[in-house]
Amino acid sequence: MSSIRKGVAIVTGSGQGIGRTIATRLAADGFDIGLSDVGSNKEKLDALSAELAVKYPGLRLCVEVADVSVEEEVKALIDSVVKQLGSLNVMVANAGINRVAPLVDATLTDWEAIFSVNVRGTFLCYKYAAQQMIAQDQGGRIIGASSLAGKKGHRFLAAYSASKFAVRGLTQSAAIELGRHRITVNAYAPGPIQTAMLELLHEGTAKHSEDKDGIYDKMKRTSAVGYLGNTEDVASLVSYLVSPEAHFVTGQTVAVDGGIFFD
Ligand code: NAD
Repeated sequence: MSSIRKGVAIVTGSGQGIGRTIATRLAADGFDIGLSDVGSNKEKLDALSAELAVKYPGLRLCVEVADVSVEEEVKALIDSVVKQLGSLNVMVANAGINRVAPLVDATLTDWEAIFSVNVRGTFLCYKYAAQQMIAQDQGGRIIGASSLAGKKGHRFLAAYSASKFAVRGLTQSAAIELGRHRITVNAYAPGPIQTAMLELLHEGTAKHSEDKDGIYDKMKRTSAVGYLGNTEDVASLVSYLVSPEAHFVTGQTVAVDGGIFFD
């Protein structure tokens, strides 16, 4: 771990998957970390907190339960982390959900659930993180989670894909407004990264398709590199985007997909 403290980062959805690895990487980079997730993942947050505390003595951590789709909970998350750790320098709005269904069967309930977490949740994290960073007047880094499905439509993922396109619009608009405050705003657009979400996508796609190999083989076949990614592949991009040398990169949604889609 870097001995120079770099500031405070919040990572939403950090109980598991990509968020967990991003939090671990930023801790290794020298950030103090506000770990956050929904209540059902609190045990995983506590376990990660304990693991990081042992691995990186001197690291300051806090664990906050917050549903990113609830405005009061996002405000309380940021207030509490700032109170405990002293500032907010990096916000990683990573939390997201997915449901797999053919468009003609997709329900409004699923549509609204996906938009409330992926779009409203990202908006709330961007908004309240930006307010705090502007008040601190030290610049900052805001990062969102888009997707390969936010660059290109996908079968059985209409709502998810639309939500991840929305994250790109939010990211571009926020970058324009916040640049003069020395706050950069970028997003990552992962392709197939081996997590619980990818497993659900694989099962859902296989259920609705004649292609029983689901998405794993297809993703491998259609990528330049020929294999799936892992959570470290996304975390290393985030590590760069939050670094001082990334000051001139803003408004971007950067693909980490092994070369499946080219802008
Ligand atoms: P995951 O399902 O393993 O983890 C998602 C995390 O978000 C979980 O910890 C979950 O509890 C949390 N979360 C869900 N709803 C929440 C809410 N309302 N408030 C707070 N936290 C909430 O998924 P992952 O693969 O780690 O995905 C992380 C992000 O990356 C998501 O936004 C996802 O859409 C995006 N993404 C993932 C992939 C992939 O292949 N895994 C590809 C593209 C984009």
